[in-house]
Amino acid sequence: MARPVIQSSSLCNSSSVDHSATTRILRTQLRFLGIAQPHFRLVNLPNCRYNSALKLKALKEPMTLTKEMMDEKEMSVVTESESNEFTTLKHRFLNYKKDKYLKYLEHFQSLAETQSPKFMVISCADSRVCPSNILGFQPGEAFVVRNVANLVPPYENGPSETNAALEFAVNSLKVQNILVIGHSRCGGIRALMSMDNETPSSFIRSWVVVGKSARASTKAAASNLSFDQQCKHCEKESVNCSLMNLFTYPWIKDKVDKGELLIHGGYYDFVDCTFEKWTLENNSRVDNQVSIRNREFWC
Ligand SMILES: [Zn+2]
Repeated sequence: MARPVIQSSSLCNSSSVDHSATTRILRTQLRFLGIAQPHFRLVNLPNCRYNSALKLKALKEPMTLTKEMMDEKEMSVVTESESNEFTTLKHRFLNYKKDKYLKYLEHFQSLAETQSPKFMVISCADSRVCPSNILGFQPGEAFVVRNVANLVPPYENGPSETNAALEFAVNSLKVQNILVIGHSRCGGIRALMSMDNETPSSFIRSWVVVGKSARASTKAAASNLSFDQQCKHCEKESVNCSLMNLFTYPWIKDKVDKGELLIHGGYYDFVDCTFEKWTLENNSRVDNQVSIRNREFWC
């Protein structure tokens, strides 16, 4: 495996930057990436300026193998090949670092050590429905998993990344709330509602079939509506099916029974920018009927 080497042209944009903090931040990033921690040495720190090439050597035993990966010339080549999209992302990231991370450094350093989010959020992968964007979750506030059509498969379906995230959030992080968020014009739900025997096999089909009970109940209750209206009905129905599926996980059921965990549904309509929120009654699973409380409509 290639040795980890980090270089940044803009790691510090001010002479007041705490370089020891910067080093800690980089170590944290490497831990997150699962890369063995190297030793760091910041080079030319006194001359560090915004947009100058700050060279950071990642050193690892044996010392003779230490390698400085990029020089100024190489960095300029990389910069030239960057797409406009990544230039935008770079500026956004640096603004985030300046305006949020460094401004509240103590808070973020605390977050680097541990997290204790109160929310586990399951939302769609759709680019228009980022929960941190629409609900303002800040770093550390929500453990989020996103998948096609915000579906929760039942326990008996076996492992998936969604229930792996649920397991960690509920059993390790001990979140107090699970929020499943559906949304308007969901392509995954449309695929679910469009499926028939002629639909070719695909990863999408194999995944969205998780919501087949929502599709069936929608077809039964709303067959007189237009296809678009049926899809909208199913977008909400599938959230409730996912909420019911959460009860099939014994460690979720146990925590709900003990009053340590609440289960909520949400629906974001980006056509008129409204948000609907509701909470599942704990007794919903007794008669397998969705029973809700605290329904709110934010507009
Ligand atoms: Zn969607």
